[in-house]
This record gives sequence, structure tokens and C-alpha cells, in this order.
Amino acid sequence: MTPIKIIAIGGDFIGPEVVNEGLKVLKKVEEINNLSLEITNIEGGGNYYLNHGVEWEEGSYEQCKKADAILFGAIGHPKARLPDNHIAGANIILGLRQRLDLFANIRPTKLYLGVKHKLSNEFRQIWAPKNVNFTIIRENTEGLYSSPFKHRPKVDSSLIQVIDERLISRKGSKRVIELAFQYADYKESRTPFDNVNRLTAIHKSNLLLGCQIFMDEFYSIASLHKSIVANDILVDSFAQDVLRSPEKYSTCVTTNSFGDILTDLVSTLAGGMGMAPSGQINGWSSDSHGMFEPIHGSGPDIAGKGIANPIAAILSVSMMLEWLGRKQSDDKFLISAKSVEDAVIKLLQKGDTLPLDIGGSAKTDQVGDAIVELINNSS
Ligand code: ATP
Repeated sequence: MTPIKIIAIGGDFIGPEVVNEGLKVLKKVEEINNLSLEITNIEGGGNYYLNHGVEWEEGSYEQCKKADAILFGAIGHPKARLPDNHIAGANIILGLRQRLDLFANIRPTKLYLGVKHKLSNEFRQIWAPKNVNFTIIRENTEGLYSSPFKHRPKVDSSLIQVIDERLISRKGSKRVIELAFQYADYKESRTPFDNVNRLTAIHKSNLLLGCQIFMDEFYSIASLHKSIVANDILVDSFAQDVLRSPEKYSTCVTTNSFGDILTDLVSTLAGGMGMAPSGQINGWSSDSHGMFEPIHGSGPDIAGKGIANPIAAILSVSMMLEWLGRKQSDDKFLISAKSVEDAVIKLLQKGDTLPLDIGGSAKTDQVGDAIVELINNSS
């Protein structure tokens, strides 16, 4: 049996801390379900740049390209800047998205039973788990974040005015919208509010030309998917509505920077950044690529204390296993994906080993170990 090649890139600060826990979980399901994985660690990021003068070693990208999937932590070190003053390490993550053409960033927001919301430094149950279970699919290769790859002037005080370009193409819009319909169809996701498999486009087409193209494509593709109810909402309106009525959403699709900002916002509904996983993919065919990572950043403020919540990284492992299972039509991976999520669900319901950010006192590795044990006990 040819092993499945997984590349793990921890990155900076809490990135490696949470990826380590993800890898523990991955190795446990490999053992239990006979998966045959070949896991290779690659170092890189801002810290690596400070120590070695390069963001990562030459040949690293080629290794990622050959891999079946990538598990990513987080990159970003406040002191690590490239000569042009741009953040060191960003080329790794943005470069992988561009070069592997990972055009869809799938970001689920799911509130599990047992998770409280931290608001104004108090833990309270604000939203109900039955009402929070939706996914935002964010375009991942265009939008505001594609311009750094074209031209980037040195950032210093001589730069008095800039225009950040926001590229939106028909091709780029079409493929992410099509993928979102396929996702909604496969997942059979339904809105808690009215039990409808709905795909909502989030946009600003009353002002932005790019969003007009996006919406044009959205409704033309929607006409081919009659089993899914298509609707749309302006991005500013969504930002307030999703907090008041998350039950109205099941699958959403949007452009790059809107998706970036909104998914940080809605992570609060699920318990915070430590609870929000993601998968960046370009499909489910045998030659497609996938990179899976918690949506949070490198968390310099909490690094080194062992207090980062590894659940987002562990749920990203579950997403990676599910994606591999679907891509390879291999039930062992689908079963593994489910067992990881089930273990997280049990951990949260038991409530005795919760991480700090959702009201517990368990350390990063204790949370990882407890999830591994729960997987072991249920096998
Ligand atoms: P970036 O700018 O790359 O997004 P960041 O670390 O500045 O990175 P976030 O990752 O968005 O920003 O973090 C926002 C806050 O959430 C920080 O206070 C951080 O410590 C906290 N946080 C992020 N990830 C976790 C986690 N896994 N567990 C607990 N707290 C987290």
C-alpha cells in the first residue's frame, strides 16, 4: 500500500504547539484504522527567517506539491520582516494558496454542546448549539490578497498613497461558486431555521464591480442546481444578521477578504478562534490539492505557555481526513475523520479537560492527550 504523504508545517509561535496535538491525533487514527501515512515536517515562517535568513528551505514547495495533503499551523512573527518590510513567512501561506491553486477556503462554524462564549471576560451561553452550524466558503486566490504577488513597493514613509487592487474574475468566481454548490449538495447541509439546503452569497454588489461579476455568476450557476435554494445578502447586513440569527445559514460563499474577516467574526459563535478549523482545496478529484489549518494566527501573546486551544487544529485534521477519504474513495479515512470529530464532541460534553479560551484550565497537550484517549476508548 503506497503511504499517503502528509506535510506538516507548524510555522510560528502557537502554530507548532497546536499542530503537534493534531499530529498526535492523526497518528492515533492511523494506528487504529491502518491508514499508512508518511508524515514529513517542514520548518518555515517568520522565526525561521530570523534564524536562517530564508522563509523556508529551497525545495519545500516542491515537497508540498508532491504531498497528498498539508497540515498547516500559523505563520507570523511581529519582528520578522523581509527587506521590503513585508511580513516574513507570508509568502509560504499565500504562495501555497496561489501555486497549488487552492481556490476554495472552506471554514465551518459549528457550536458544540458544552462550549461557552467568552464575552467581556465572562463565560456565558449566548448562542444555542442547535442554531450554529454553517460553513463559509471563501474565494482564496483572488480579491484583495492577490496584489502582493504582482508588484509591491517598499513600505516606508515616502509612500504617501497606495491603491490595493481587488481582482475578481469570472473564472475565479465561477469555480468557487461551483465548488460551494457541490459542497452544499454533498453535505446536504440544512438551515436550523427552516431546514433548507441553502447557499447564500455574501457580497457588496451595490457598490463594487467585482461583486457584480460574482453575483452574475452566482445566479447563473444557481439555475443549474435546483435542489439548493440560492439567496444573497450584502456583506454589512450579513455581519449583523449572522450574530442575531445564525440559524438562517447553512452554506455561504463569498470573496476573499470578506470571507477572511467574516470567518474571524463568526468564530465567536463557535467559542472563538481556538474552535475554528479550515480546509483550502481545489476540488475532490484524485489530483487535487488540500491544505488544512486552524483559521487563527500565530498568537504571539499566548505562545510558549501551553495554553493555546488545539481543537481548531484537531478539527482541521478531521477535515483533512474527510477530504482524503472523499478524494480517494476510502472509507477508512472517512471513518477516521468522524472518530476525530466524535472525540472532540465527547471531550466538550464531558467538560473536564477544556482549554482556557472556552472556560477550562487544561493545557494544550492535555487537551490533545484527552482527545487521543477518547479516540482510543471508542475504537
Ligand atoms: P494573525 O494576525 O495572523 O491572524 P494573531 O495571532 O494576531 O494572528 P489571531 O490568531 O486572530 O491573531 O488571534 C486573535 C486572538 O485570539 C489572540 O489574542 C490570540 O491569542 C487568540 N487565539 C488565537 N488562536 C488561539 C488558540 N488556538 N487558542 C486560544 N487563543 C487563541
